[in-house]
Amino acid sequence: MSSSSLAQAIVSAPGPAQRRAMAKSITLLESTRADHRALADTLLGELLPHTGRSLRLGISGVPGVGKSTFIEALGLFLIERGHRVAVLAVDPSSTVSGGSILGDKTRMERLSMDERAYIRPSPSSGTLGGVAEKTREAMLVCEAAGFDIVIVETVGVGQSETAVAGMTDMYVLLQLPNAGDELQAIKKGVMELADLVVINKADVDPAAATRAQAQIMSSLRLLGMHGRPEHAAHDETLWHPKALQLSALKFQGLSEFWAAVEQFRQLQTAAGRWAEKRQQQALAWMWERIQSGLKAAFMADTSVRAQLPDTTARVLAGQLAPSTAARALLTAFHGQAAAAGPV
Ligand code: GDP
Repeated sequence: MSSSSLAQAIVSAPGPAQRRAMAKSITLLESTRADHRALADTLLGELLPHTGRSLRLGISGVPGVGKSTFIEALGLFLIERGHRVAVLAVDPSSTVSGGSILGDKTRMERLSMDERAYIRPSPSSGTLGGVAEKTREAMLVCEAAGFDIVIVETVGVGQSETAVAGMTDMYVLLQLPNAGDELQAIKKGVMELADLVVINKADVDPAAATRAQAQIMSSLRLLGMHGRPEHAAHDETLWHPKALQLSALKFQGLSEFWAAVEQFRQLQTAAGRWAEKRQQQALAWMWERIQSGLKAAFMADTSVRAQLPDTTARVLAGQLAPSTAARALLTAFHGQAAAAGPV
């Protein structure tokens, strides 16, 4: 199938043909074969004018916090209200061990059966950057197919939270109603990324959930004072990260959650932050990919590979300054690149 017939099927009306084209396109985007990649790049170019109109929601939390339960409940809540919901995942554990923390297809059974929803598991090979890139591109496919809410889910391992926060409009952290987890999230810097913290399983111990909510609200205020300028205190026109409590299992608190998301979107849009953040994310992504491409080319370079063991040994033995070593290796790399002609 050519890239333009795939693109046409994706932007066409919802139905089985559209779903097949989406699955095919995402598989193509995940392929590392050079000819597939070239086709995938053409496809992305064709889809791009049809993208960007969804709300991109990042959701993370440790295994067991209730991410699947929450996303399924939220997805069902949203499709009842006329939305089309896509769920994608970034699971770095699956790239290392082949096993996945986010689990398999049996998750979100009710949501996955609904034609107004589209669920795709995490790509299972490559580095975190590679997996995140594939998810980011899959997001564009879903948007071109008219899914107006795209949820990107991740687990609390391997910096995947930063990657997901970097590809979504709003980043939500799920927490359990106990303070130990809160401290852990603060230590890891994840709390700083959060636009909204959701304390799940509030049905188990409502008093603990209320305590956790108050504690997290005060942590968020503190982070706001020292953290991101867009979260600066005392400006009513800007969004201030908040904590909510809910029960995903009992479907409680979903409308309050969605009201907060809508308010976030409205304030960020009015302040011009919504579009600006997407532009920054797009450029940051380009540079992240350039850096990782350069590093891969550097590591594959024959002169670099020849010199690296000896240079490394000399740095370790204190015979060569690290900066001198880096310069020498870069010169070896540049020499090779120059000999190969303009890149
Ligand atoms: P994930 O690993 O973060 O995706 O977590 P799951 O969604 O698989 O949930 C882990 C367990 O917690 C499951 O047994 C769920 O039924 C349970 N669970 C999830 N949300 C709630 C909730 O709001 N209340 C209660 N009591 N249990 C929940």
